[in-house]
Amino acid sequence: MTTVKHMKWWGWGNEGVGFHHEDKPGFAPFVLKAVGLDLHKATKAGEPSFADLKVPASNVTTELTSTLTAIVGAEHVTSDDMVRVIHTYGKSLRDLVRIRNNWIERAPDVVVYPADEAEVLAVVQAAVAADAVIIPFGGGSNIAGSLEPLPAETRTVISLDLGRLRLVTSIDAEAGLAVIQAGAQGPDLEKQLNDKGWTIGHFPDSFTHSTVGGWVATRSSGMQSDKYGDIADIARGLRVARPDGLLVLRPLPSTSSGPSVREMILGSEGRLGVITEVTVQVHRIPAQRDVYAYFFPNWEAGIAAMQEISESDAAPSITRISDSNETGFSLATSKDSKGFSKFLSGTLLPWIMGVKWGKENLDKICISFIGYEGSPAHAKLQRKLTEKIIRKHGGLTIIGTGPGVLYDQKKFDTPYLRDFLLDMGAAGDVSETAAPWSKLNQVHDAAYAAAKGAYAEIGIEGWIMSHMSHSYHSGACLYFTFAFVFKDDPIAEYNLVKNAIQQSFVDNHATISHHHGVGVEHSPWLEQDISPEGVVVMKALFAGADPGSNFNPGKIAR
Ligand SMILES: Cc1cc2nc3c(=O)[nH]c(=O)nc-3n(C[C@H](O)[C@H](O)[C@H](O)COP(=O)(O)OP(=O)(O)OC[C@H]3O[C@@H](n4cnc5c(N)ncnc54)[C@H](O)[C@@H]3O)c2cc1C
Repeated sequence: MTTVKHMKWWGWGNEGVGFHHEDKPGFAPFVLKAVGLDLHKATKAGEPSFADLKVPASNVTTELTSTLTAIVGAEHVTSDDMVRVIHTYGKSLRDLVRIRNNWIERAPDVVVYPADEAEVLAVVQAAVAADAVIIPFGGGSNIAGSLEPLPAETRTVISLDLGRLRLVTSIDAEAGLAVIQAGAQGPDLEKQLNDKGWTIGHFPDSFTHSTVGGWVATRSSGMQSDKYGDIADIARGLRVARPDGLLVLRPLPSTSSGPSVREMILGSEGRLGVITEVTVQVHRIPAQRDVYAYFFPNWEAGIAAMQEISESDAAPSITRISDSNETGFSLATSKDSKGFSKFLSGTLLPWIMGVKWGKENLDKICISFIGYEGSPAHAKLQRKLTEKIIRKHGGLTIIGTGPGVLYDQKKFDTPYLRDFLLDMGAAGDVSETAAPWSKLNQVHDAAYAAAKGAYAEIGIEGWIMSHMSHSYHSGACLYFTFAFVFKDDPIAEYNLVKNAIQQSFVDNHATISHHHGVGVEHSPWLEQDISPEGVVVMKALFAGADPGSNFNPGKIAR
């Protein structure tokens, strides 16, 4: 049996780890107010039973199993039901609900774990020769339905797990480039880089369970993208296993050799081949790294400040502002401890803000996190320039790094919250987008209206909150979190809310996704996003590069 570790088959993260609210006194009252769920009275569903799950039988032939075994060895090929279930879905809310409700229409028939690029290539070639379907699997953390086999697929589906390819194989210190095997997860590669004084600077919230190959295949974006760029900027060179050999893109700072094949692989979600290796830009670990918190009197003032910061010479590594609803959530999930956390959730800070902005306006206040990195002198200068802009827009600059430290600590715990809410019969999920600065407030209001309309249609009290992060010259990402208690039909109700929010994006000059990709979940809006002719070009690319439709068919564009 393979040694590759996987997340829980039914939820996020590691076995035995979950979200707890007992040390966050503001959390239960917050949930009661937001979605009407009383955590003290709600019945908690237990962990689902694997024995009760109906797993479709594998159709892999003895011949194909023997071929795969000859390539990777018997212990790295399996049709075990548990392993096939783990490779069926990602971790979207739909995935979690379906798995909890025994809803697996089609699972991969066989899972294979090659050891290196040569084995990946051999598996790809054998699979295509047998007219099987190949679905590359990184960490399994995607939330756009990018992994699930099509329900009607009759061919053998192979899940090709990259989990044994996890090394940083070389670093070009002169160029600041590192060669990394595609299956390396965030902590694997960052530790190997840190040991030599480098960092990749890519820290998505799913960092602990996602891979560099998956980041490239979904066009991921990490917390510090303002400084380091999105993965689309960070990934310079690529190697991709295809039926007739390797597609090799050398790491170049830029090139004008026609339409960018690198950009075609970025976001391709396994449809153009299996990425085996990524050469990424790396940076020396900064001497100083701080995340400061600020408060703004309202969302509009905060957004205006974020735009001005992005246009200034300040160049911080993170610019993020939560709207007033999300600010309330942040304060509610603060731990009841000592020091700053207590100050934040206590009475002193509201008193200061009440004096500054008026008590009647406290519910409009927005918290912002700004990151500064570099030499101490550089970080100091960034902060000086930024805080000048913050004050100009009425922001409060006396808070310091306390909440930033808390935010950094809890960012990898928050993903466990969705399972906690599902245990209580409630949904909590996200929709994210990007739009020009001139449209951001419009998109924000439209998404709120869309969610509220959907909640009214279902006849429930629901919740929505948002933050802006990932700034660019012309705009930024807006990230919405919504939550509600299921009424009768969880998937139908979830679809109603999520679809309404997605539609509001394309109706208001925003994209269907800034960094989660398309999969099957966002694909209905692709034509509205990139125009019918854009879809024609994309389909032609997939059809030309994969005439047998062997690579993750049905994802992005059908
Ligand atoms: C709680 C949570 C928080 C998240 N936060 C963020 C965030 O902050 N930023 C962000 O960008 N995303 C985030 N995501 C989404 C997800 O983590 C990303 O989409 C991530 O890039 C997926 O990587 P993975 O290795 O898990 O890929 P997988 O889920 O295994 O695969 C995703 C897609 O990529 C393809 N693929 C994977 N590896 C390869 C390969 N080697 N070659 C070819 N195709 C491949 C798969 O076939 C599939 O289509 C979050 C998800 C969750 C559940």
